[in-house]
Amino acid sequence: MDVLVVGGGASGLVSAITAAKSGCKVTILEKNSKCGKKLLVTGNGHCNYWNELQEIDKYHTNNPECFTPIFNLAKDKVLNFFKELGIIPKIKNGYYYPSSNQSISILNALLNLAKYYKVNIVYEEEVTSIKKNHKFLVKTLNNSNEADKVIIATGSMASIKDKSVTGYDLASSLGHTIVPLLPSLVQLKSNDHLCKELKGVRCDVKLSLYEDNNLIKEEMGELQFTDYGLSGICVLNLSRYISIGLEDNKNEVIKINFLSWLEEDTLSFISNQSNKLPYYTISNILDGMLNYKIGNEILKKCNIKANAKLEDLDNHRLNLLIEYLTKYPVEITGTRNLTDAQVCRGGISLKEINPSTMESKLVKGLYFTGEVLDVDGDCGGYNLGFAWMSGLIAGKSVSKEK
Ligand SMILES: Cc1cc2nc3c(=O)[nH]c(=O)nc-3n(C[C@H](O)[C@H](O)[C@H](O)COP(=O)(O)OP(=O)(O)OC[C@H]3O[C@@H](n4cnc5c(N)ncnc54)[C@H](O)[C@@H]3O)c2cc1C
Repeated sequence: MDVLVVGGGASGLVSAITAAKSGCKVTILEKNSKCGKKLLVTGNGHCNYWNELQEIDKYHTNNPECFTPIFNLAKDKVLNFFKELGIIPKIKNGYYYPSSNQSISILNALLNLAKYYKVNIVYEEEVTSIKKNHKFLVKTLNNSNEADKVIIATGSMASIKDKSVTGYDLASSLGHTIVPLLPSLVQLKSNDHLCKELKGVRCDVKLSLYEDNNLIKEEMGELQFTDYGLSGICVLNLSRYISIGLEDNKNEVIKINFLSWLEEDTLSFISNQSNKLPYYTISNILDGMLNYKIGNEILKKCNIKANAKLEDLDNHRLNLLIEYLTKYPVEITGTRNLTDAQVCRGGISLKEINPSTMESKLVKGLYFTGEVLDVDGDCGGYNLGFAWMSGLIAGKSVSKEK
């Protein structure tokens, strides 16, 4: 059985190894001069490849009913595969990294195993078309190849700057539907002056996302202010909802709770502090609770003088102060582009894929893996998680009709 894998990234390498291990003759056609370019930059070069917390709601797709069987079939197989690779995990708060702390360890292990199972990797071969007669005819910029089965593992457009033939082009030429592509796990843009004023400041917060005034999602974590808007993992995890909402012309507002650590009522806490420290101005009290730049900006926004004391504030100012400390509203005007995003929301519709094999329901012998499909995950190893899961299923399935 001749199997061609289009793309030598995370899911392509896993599917190629699994197919070759089951006895198939496997060739990877990779457009770059090296495999796993994106894999190398994951987790800031440390590669967060899995997460202990495997819950279905960490993964997003237009067709969750088609995703569930994939998840149930493969989630328990991933860590065994990593054992076979010889990767010793380092687990931080449930996030898996290689103990070397270097993504290259994972790429090298995949390449070693691919070599062991005699996977042929052809570099600088961009696949430009796939046709099916009794066999597949796969054309690249330089060559033509025949195969019994083809796995499309081309990944998404997220963070890709070059223009080449994508997996979406190849899939749609074979009749597949593409769920619209939007940036996900991406920074957010806002014109709120607070972002520019606080550029560079990082703080632990709780974020509440309101869409047309309805609360739709909350996240906690470290927020980073930038000159264009907001960044940080908690922001990235909200970005897919905002991408979709803005596309539908919805109003997207993130309310920031700067005092997410505070267990008691904010007003009584500040009043107690003021009673305990009668010589303190309101600015001095905030300095004990927050980054001083945040406190200063909030006081300015409430029109409160820095030398004012708590007892100088009327009810209106006091309520405004509490409101901005715990629910500071930042209107989101956009996301950064797909080229800045970690992943892409949308892709080849799961409705057209058999979830127990990853085979196309439209073209027999054609398989899909990884981010080219309509699945995107939260931050925390879930996107690579899907690459491994789908790669393992497809690699096993291609050998079935040997
Ligand atoms: C900055 C950044 C950090 C990230 N960090 C993490 C993280 O820590 N944890 C996590 O889980 N996920 C992370 N991700 C997401 C993760 O990298 C992807 O979800 C994952 O790599 C997808 O695997 P894939 O096999 O589908 O695609 P890819 O790994 O992108 O591989 C696709 C391959 O196909 C090749 N290709 C494309 N088109 C063609 C063609 N026409 N012909 C031949 N070859 C082609 C490409 O060159 C590429 O090698 C991160 C992404 C980015 C951008």
